[in-house]
Amino acid sequence: MQPGYFPANILFILIFVAANGFFVFTAYKLYRILRLGKPEDRFDRTSERIKSVVTFVLGQRRVIREPAGWGHFFIFWGFVIISIGSLETFGVGIYHGFAYWKFLGKGLSSLLYLLQDLFCAAVVVALCVALYRRFVVKPERLRYEDQKAANQDACIIIGLIFLLVVLLFGARAAEYLLAQGAAGRYFPRLAFVSVAFSSLFAGLTKEGLQAWYSFCWWGHTVVILGFLIYIPFSKHLHLLGAIPNVFFRRLSSVGELSKMDLEDETAETYGVSKIEEFSWKQLLDLYACTECGRCSDNCPATLTGKPLSPKLTIHHLKEHLQAKGKMLLAQQGEAEAATANPEGELAKVLIGDICQHDELWSCTTCGNCIENCPVFIEHIDKYVDMRRYLVLMESNFSPEVQNVMRNWETNSNPWGLGFATRGDWAKGLPVKTLAEDSQVEYLYYVGCAGSFDERAKKISSALVTLLNEAGVSFGILGAEEKCCGETARRLGNEYLFQSMATELVEIINSYGVKKIITACPHGYNCLKNEYPQFGAHWEVYHHSEFLATLLEEGQLQAQQGMDKNLVFHDSCYLGRYNDLYEEPRTVLNSILGLKFSEMDRSRNKAFCCGAGGGRMWMEETLGDQKINDARTGQALKLEPDIIGVCCPFCTTMFEDGLKTCDMDEKVKVYDIAEILAQTVKSEKEQGGQ
Ligand code: SF4
Ligand code: SF4
Repeated sequence: MQPGYFPANILFILIFVAANGFFVFTAYKLYRILRLGKPEDRFDRTSERIKSVVTFVLGQRRVIREPAGWGHFFIFWGFVIISIGSLETFGVGIYHGFAYWKFLGKGLSSLLYLLQDLFCAAVVVALCVALYRRFVVKPERLRYEDQKAANQDACIIIGLIFLLVVLLFGARAAEYLLAQGAAGRYFPRLAFVSVAFSSLFAGLTKEGLQAWYSFCWWGHTVVILGFLIYIPFSKHLHLLGAIPNVFFRRLSSVGELSKMDLEDETAETYGVSKIEEFSWKQLLDLYACTECGRCSDNCPATLTGKPLSPKLTIHHLKEHLQAKGKMLLAQQGEAEAATANPEGELAKVLIGDICQHDELWSCTTCGNCIENCPVFIEHIDKYVDMRRYLVLMESNFSPEVQNVMRNWETNSNPWGLGFATRGDWAKGLPVKTLAEDSQVEYLYYVGCAGSFDERAKKISSALVTLLNEAGVSFGILGAEEKCCGETARRLGNEYLFQSMATELVEIINSYGVKKIITACPHGYNCLKNEYPQFGAHWEVYHHSEFLATLLEEGQLQAQQGMDKNLVFHDSCYLGRYNDLYEEPRTVLNSILGLKFSEMDRSRNKAFCCGAGGGRMWMEETLGDQKINDARTGQALKLEPDIIGVCCPFCTTMFEDGLKTCDMDEKVKVYDIAEILAQTVKSEKEQGGQ
């Protein structure tokens, strides 16, 4: 924008300083509220964090995973470009002679004007699409309890952005016309939208154009400063929260839960029962939510009608934090906030008023919410932290969970079967225990299901066959093996988990083990990502990746084909938690004739089987449908002969699902190890042929 059409004014500077001052004051208060949270170290690996911001904020990589995300992409970049234009506006307000072209040159400023025109036009289209989605399509994911308030907020934001664009075009149209033939003025014709827009004002006199320019200039200035003031009070708070949240995102595995300090004698409580007991990063998550609803749109609990919606959990926690945070600051001496909470937010109980018990216990910890969240909000840790409080401080959990915890305590397995019989499954099989021969390269950690569950024992046998066929040097712990404690941890019993982990690490390390293979994704995730918290640094392989390598290196080869239709189910703890998507597919692809298909919700969008997060041990009484039935139904749509899995829990859940719909005779569930074991021949056999 160019100078000269309105008086230099103190008024602008006063408004500008007041608006920015108010914004800084509000933002500082939000920062102080964040600081109410517990400490957490997220300041490592700075270069990776910067790269994340570039990729996921500037590149909007996660946002554009879905077609609807392109609207956000254009609004985001349009807003950035408009802001660059607004800086010129502000410059003019301070010094009338200010214009980008005088500093950047005509070439560069023409390009900038062109970009601004293009993005502003794209923003208008994107805003229309956003309005259409919200008021005509009305997707479930955009639904909130107070829909009127949510729509009102969205309309204010959309209206403000729309006004910004229109006023910018209006001012530029006037600029273009005033610059024609005038010495010392310049407006690039490349800004073709502004030039086209100018035809609406071609009949105005010079004075008329100057008045119109002043009107648009002031309008644009007031709207953008008003927007700045409104941000912290609107759903667009994420404009402040999202960038730091992406920067401070978890860089370690999503499957790693935090280790509680149970030795801390000064701790008054364990787990989280008050909003301020979350860490500052967990609180920052709440500021970052864009309210896009992608988490709930992919949550198996939400989609089967359970009283859990991760989107609403975050929304409720955010509202509670903002209200209670002000009160807590007031208690710290900020008197202006002392009367800010007429409804007595301080009296509200986190677990009971803000989050409900059934909500916390409905989570399968499948990770779909985290995987689909464009701003890397970490939902699971919050549910587990609240479960920790209920379990460790109140012993408030269901009788079936109490029973399973007792079984872990007495026999180190969830069924409560005699711990001394743990290695019995291997009787008669060609596998030694480490007590018999510790000079092996790999420990096969079997896990509770593979040791005690009749169905899963067949998977253990199949894996032993394959490892022997490939000539792998391995052994098991037999009766010495213990539960890894993964499920106890996710059920909130951190105390039990830590004692189990410490014991198992001691046993495994006593044999000098360096490499571990396991067929259970839950044990795999726990040993690989959580046991380093207890000083264990082993190489841990899930059998899918280990078998894929054996096949690729020729140590195993599928000999017989299999003329079957197979649909493959990704285990949450393997795929989303550990990024192992290709490996099980490599195993299946090695089998000639096997036709395998993918469900709509597969790979990183795979629907949970319903067993994770301890749900395996809890009756599923809430909702419209059981999660395993829903997932089985998705698989059956593809009319398979076999449902392929690579987790003993998934095996159980699908077999139950097939029984429920009377399809268990027609369709079979097999682990990839069982499928491969039916078809392999070893290098040894090939050489002998
Ligand atoms: S982890 Fe899975 S079940 Fe739990 S809230 Fe997230 S999407 Fe829902
Ligand atoms: S938590 Fe993430 S995915 Fe869910 S509504 Fe908020 S921003 Fe969207």
